Amino acid sequence: MIQTFQRTLLASAAAIALCTAFAPAQAAAPMAKTPAPGFFRLMVGDIEVTPISDGTVDLPTDQLLREKPETTRAILEKNYLKVPTETSDNAFLINTGSKLVLVDTGAGALFGPTLGKLLANLKAAGYQPEQIDEIYITHMHGDHVGGLVSDGKRVFPNAIVRAGKADADYWLSKANLDKAPADKKGFFQGAQTALNPYVEAGKFKAIEGDGELVPGVSAVAEHGHTPGHTTYAVDSKGQKLVLIGDLIHVAAVQFDNPTVTIGFDSDEKAAFAARKKVFDAAAKNGWLVGGAHLQFPGLGHIASQGKGYRWIPVNYTQMR
Ligand SMILES: [Zn+2]
Ligand SMILES: [Zn+2]
Repeated sequence: MIQTFQRTLLASAAAIALCTAFAPAQAAAPMAKTPAPGFFRLMVGDIEVTPISDGTVDLPTDQLLREKPETTRAILEKNYLKVPTETSDNAFLINTGSKLVLVDTGAGALFGPTLGKLLANLKAAGYQPEQIDEIYITHMHGDHVGGLVSDGKRVFPNAIVRAGKADADYWLSKANLDKAPADKKGFFQGAQTALNPYVEAGKFKAIEGDGELVPGVSAVAEHGHTPGHTTYAVDSKGQKLVLIGDLIHVAAVQFDNPTVTIGFDSDEKAAFAARKKVFDAAAKNGWLVGGAHLQFPGLGHIASQGKGYRWIPVNYTQMR
């Protein structure tokens, strides 16, 4: 009986193979040419974390990093990357169970059409902007705050926006905008365009010190990249995720050699010191780390290696 069944199967397979050999060619399926879904999801203890892609931006990394351009280019090439380097811009949505918190908001309309995809990806991830209770800004560069507004209006009407006080004092100052050199005014204008509607609506509250902001999410000042650059930690059931903002921009270069700083750093020495402090602690304690410019979803662990570090991207999970 079984043998008869096997013979029938073999005969059918042979017939199909023959038919296929003589069948006319099928029209090729058109290429989808759309990116993979722009969100990821995992749990940190009881807290749901959804990295959300704002898209990517091409950066002239060989000009921006503080090392010889040819050195940067050689390292990138070894890592199958090129100049300009396609660089992720990631935000992170945190659902504590009682509060919905968004860390950074992408670039909105400030950096052209390859960025500004946060809202579409937030909705694809199952959330609406009206649901966001709190927004924590790592720092007020345009690629982190631009998504707060659309046509001058608040995109997140029910959210309180929070950021380090030193960043607010520096970037939101009209006097600093006025006295900035022409090529730096855009940084101030971007921050003020994004934040002012929240300030005017009474929806901005500066962070004045380290500590818990809502249960399970806390702020730690890590100044250097900007005057008030701040990291945010998610803690639940003994697990910890630290969202490090712009402590690193070019993984292929700066994990191996963390002393390499970038032209965007306000204070390069302090930026390096903050990177080293947080990376050392993450490696020692086994914290999960989330970076704004690490390749999407920007999550992984850090191991110490020689004078630098090794990046271990997070495993894919279906959250079973
Ligand atoms: Zn930045
Ligand atoms: Zn950035």
